[in-house]
Amino acid sequence: MSKVLVSNCDSYDLNQMKTMIQASIDQLGGSEKYVKKGQKVLLKINLIGPKKPEKAATTNPEFVRAVGQLVQSWGGEVYVGDSSGGAIAGMAPTKKSFIVSGIEKVANEEGFIIVNFDEVGPVKKEIAGNYSSELYITKAIEEVDVVINLPKMKTHSMGIYTGAVKNLFGAIPGLRKAKYHKDGPNPLDFGEFLADIHKAINNMPLHIMDGIVSMQGEGPTAGNPYSAGKILISEDPLSLDRIAMEMMSIDPDKVPILQASVKRGIGVWDRTQIEVIGDVSKLKKYKLPKKYFSKEPTDYDRVKGVIDFFKAVPIVKQKKCVNCNTCVDACPVHAIDRKTKLINYTTCIDCLCCHELCMVEAIELKSQKKYVNVVRAISSIFYK
Ligand code: SF4
Ligand code: SF4
Repeated sequence: MSKVLVSNCDSYDLNQMKTMIQASIDQLGGSEKYVKKGQKVLLKINLIGPKKPEKAATTNPEFVRAVGQLVQSWGGEVYVGDSSGGAIAGMAPTKKSFIVSGIEKVANEEGFIIVNFDEVGPVKKEIAGNYSSELYITKAIEEVDVVINLPKMKTHSMGIYTGAVKNLFGAIPGLRKAKYHKDGPNPLDFGEFLADIHKAINNMPLHIMDGIVSMQGEGPTAGNPYSAGKILISEDPLSLDRIAMEMMSIDPDKVPILQASVKRGIGVWDRTQIEVIGDVSKLKKYKLPKKYFSKEPTDYDRVKGVIDFFKAVPIVKQKKCVNCNTCVDACPVHAIDRKTKLINYTTCIDCLCCHELCMVEAIELKSQKKYVNVVRAISSIFYK
């Protein structure tokens, strides 16, 4: 039996949020169950892109402040991290996302340490996945004692819903995310990658969802804000998602990205085995994505084609390079030649660590086809 606590919270008022969250944590057994004094605690936010808080695409910065302050009061040292969207390279740089989302400002004010997953690089995890035997996950997760997942309650124009399970996709740094999107364009296959990530992380005991202002319609970035006034807390990401969908009036059988997690026992899915504490009445006039009602099958080859079209690779601009070798030493797979700075794209795992660490911005993300770079530059103007 799993437990999901749902509290009503109609604004991002700091005291109200902290009171509600602390009350739920107490009902789950108290903070000491999750965070011990002196532990490093990473808040895994949803930082999908450089989106302002009022767009409701990212975990709200005040929500991050509330959870971070609570963790500090429990004796933990707070880290805040994510890697922004990577399917369309260069349009969602993580550094910029931290600034535009307001999360960098909050972190600086509160003494939280920002962890840009693209900067710290990945570790290789051997897994027994259905689609691959290895996974590159941010080092940040290995370097802390506890991870607390802070997803945003949102719709998804292709996957219908995105919440606690999907939020872990950001644990894959850089453009590697695009590869997983391409290898699994079908939501059932893509769900396998999500299950792999959850299986590979074993220090994440708590999930706290920002459903105060949710995103409805064509999420996860192009929908509209909806004042849902909810905070959901659980030890079980799958149960939490199931209850969030119930409130959003989403039939759980119509969300294929979660099916692999159900099959592979990431959490409890059976509704009769989920104890809910709080008000789970349906959110009125909540808009679901068009795809939810459509009978048209999705053309996944087209999806793959779009990802391929926008595919970018890191390229060292020789004229700008000052030969410091930071990128060479940081590359986890030794793909950059020390002498020539040429990148071996057969070994490169698209983690973006080199791009993030170069102090003189000598590493650019470019397609090898010129006209694609023009299209991407134009598209990024509209990605706001
Ligand atoms: S980090 Fe930048 S400046 Fe340093 S070697 Fe690499 S490309 Fe050149
Ligand atoms: S060259 Fe190395 S550091 Fe740069 S993206 Fe590829 S794998 Fe990452």
